[in-house]
Amino acid sequence: MSLILTCDFDGTLTLKDTVDAILEAFAEPEWTEVEAEWAAGRIGSRDCLRRQTALLRVTQQELNAFIDDIAVDPDAAGFFADCGRLGLPVQVVSDGFDWVVRRVLARIGVRHTPIIANHLTAVGEDRWLLQFPHAAPQCGSGVCKCAVVKSARTVVHIGDGRSDACVADVADLVFAKGWLLEQRQQRGLPAIGFENFAEVRARLADLEALIPTPALAQRIA
Ligand SMILES: [Mg+2]
Ligand SMILES: [Zn+2]
Repeated sequence: MSLILTCDFDGTLTLKDTVDAILEAFAEPEWTEVEAEWAAGRIGSRDCLRRQTALLRVTQQELNAFIDDIAVDPDAAGFFADCGRLGLPVQVVSDGFDWVVRRVLARIGVRHTPIIANHLTAVGEDRWLLQFPHAAPQCGSGVCKCAVVKSARTVVHIGDGRSDACVADVADLVFAKGWLLEQRQQRGLPAIGFENFAEVRARLADLEALIPTPALAQRIA
């Protein structure tokens, strides 16, 4: 695998963070105490999400109905179609819930894109378990995004948050908004700022010029 385009989900493809929205709607109130520990840097997102998921009280039906109302970037489906047309291998890498990512992408007609995310399972009537098949030992995140891309020679990443920081640091090209864009700017690191996927789509055919590597030139030729 020489080039990989990785795209965050929460707050990047969706307009809001769906993990936060689900916790606000369905978790026991102690979830905010766990969140505060994470925000203060005392725990990583893996411990944070494991404990918060255990506080969820929602049936599968209720959760699915909630997910079906989640707003998605209007150009998200077009973005994946463009990637297909241009031969750009794209994966969704999310430190959120795979259940949510899969259902939202299916709703917008995106069915064959690989999804790398934390594994959410229903246990009993309204309880949930989160597992971390993509964690890395030296990393506190649920999904270590930089480990996901380690076999790729050229990495293009699109994201917005803290879970994107490690992969952005090893990427050849970064599209960023929100926290990630500010963090890159503060550290004097390159990033293409974007507000929505219409802007990302407009740059896709230019990727060859933005990352002038033989591998990429070959792929999109
Ligand atoms: Mg995000
Ligand atoms: Zn990492």
